[in-house]
Amino acid sequence: TVAVVLFTADLRLRDHPPLHAALRSADEVVPLFVLDPGIHAAGFDAPNRRAFLADCLGDLDDGLRRRGGRLVVRSGPVVREVRAVAAACGATEVHLAAGVTAYAHRREERLRRELGTAGVALRVHEAVITAVAPGAVTPAGSDHFAVFTPYSRRWSEQTLRTPLAAPRAVRVPDGVHGEPLPGRADGSGTSPGLPPGGETAGRDRLARWTRSGGLDAYEERHDDLAGDATSRLSPYLHLGALSAVEAVHRARARGGPGAEAFVRQLCWRDFHHQVLAARPEASWRDYRTRDDRWRGEDDAAGDIAAWRDGRTGYPIVDAAMRQLRHEGWMHNRARLLTASFLTKTLYVDWRIGARHFLDLLVDGDIVNNQLNWQWAAGTGTDTRPHRVLNPTVQAKRFDPDGAYVRRWVPELADVDAGRIHEPWRLPEDRRTALAYPPPIVDLADALTRFRHARGRD
Ligand code: FAD
Repeated sequence: TVAVVLFTADLRLRDHPPLHAALRSADEVVPLFVLDPGIHAAGFDAPNRRAFLADCLGDLDDGLRRRGGRLVVRSGPVVREVRAVAAACGATEVHLAAGVTAYAHRREERLRRELGTAGVALRVHEAVITAVAPGAVTPAGSDHFAVFTPYSRRWSEQTLRTPLAAPRAVRVPDGVHGEPLPGRADGSGTSPGLPPGGETAGRDRLARWTRSGGLDAYEERHDDLAGDATSRLSPYLHLGALSAVEAVHRARARGGPGAEAFVRQLCWRDFHHQVLAARPEASWRDYRTRDDRWRGEDDAAGDIAAWRDGRTGYPIVDAAMRQLRHEGWMHNRARLLTASFLTKTLYVDWRIGARHFLDLLVDGDIVNNQLNWQWAAGTGTDTRPHRVLNPTVQAKRFDPDGAYVRRWVPELADVDAGRIHEPWRLPEDRRTALAYPPPIVDLADALTRFRHARGRD
């Protein structure tokens, strides 16, 4: 018998329940990845993620070849391609990880229907993309948790599976045609500081970060912008090159406050997944309607451009936005304060910021990006939706000596720590010599406008 395993955001061989199940129930398995133009049309194939994906597919193919198999890559509408492959090899089953987005729901429904008419069974596996499956824990009377703390309590009580070993051998039937793998060279327009993708690189990063003390120090250091002390595992988790279940197990095995804080972040990831699984429309619509009259491209074009380009005159915001462009990645604290700045200080629609992040982030993920944006804009699950992060206060707290700003805003490299976050307070002649813009907005005025707009003055 033959089974097809359709890989999606689970590009790994270790701890892969669909592959494991397929290998147990069939003699031969077709590991399949489909480049679906539906994803391109929706604008989610940004160059940084395309390059990272190419690395992941290459590494997955290498791993399969070492086990006697290969990855079959096809281009086209995913349902059509899966049907064609299943028909070509006489498969009786297709295995797939459950997804949470509207796109994933549609894909699953259509596969079930169309494969069903061809006599092929669809087997959907839970808790492949997340550690705990969305919907596995729910509060009384609702299909999802809208507040993080009670969710995290229930999440922590769940028993996770023991991570599955990578298969020893994979036999792929003859006669299934694939295309050449997409190469990283195709990814023109990528950020210069992009990390390498793939399961090997992801496991390596986790191992190195843990060995060098990163996990143990995580609780104390995760908000230190210049220290850059977080795991940087998000792109690997986003494409499933690293299993969330395994990451939780490894951290718990290590123990200590650093590991606990790290596991809490993985819980945030699952939290957002269970929100979006229940409310897929929250990817572009307000999760909680606030009736905000956000400014859009038409009335805030200059402010939006300054924010995107890192020219707002607020050094911490500009440093973060330039890091995003250069690395395709940004520190969580920086994401929070730049998102708060765009939405609550400039009063620009969160969707405009979310779109820009998705254009550049190598970990750009419809679940985590959109729901974190909604959190920051106060339209999502933040229980204090009216809080506004003051960029200067944040900067002094999380970049006290200005090293993060100096790294990304070279115009300010020679400004001392006392003024680096407030260059407008430098003497006039120093300030004009800097070639750095004055602030595009007055924070006090902006706060008054925001409170007024939200009816909270
Ligand atoms: P670590 O601090 O080492 O955390 C470990 C892992 O936990 C991360 O890799 C990530 O998978 C998960 N995680 C951490 N924080 C969060 C969080 N707040 N929500 C969900 N998961 C989290 N994360 C993405 O993966 N993709 C996105 O597109 C994305 N967009 C964001 C947009 C905004 C406006 C904000 C405020 C946050 C966003 N995040 C996103 C969450 C978070 O900023 C990143 O996951 C984190 O910075 C990645 O760095 P790291 O791997 O070093 O994280």
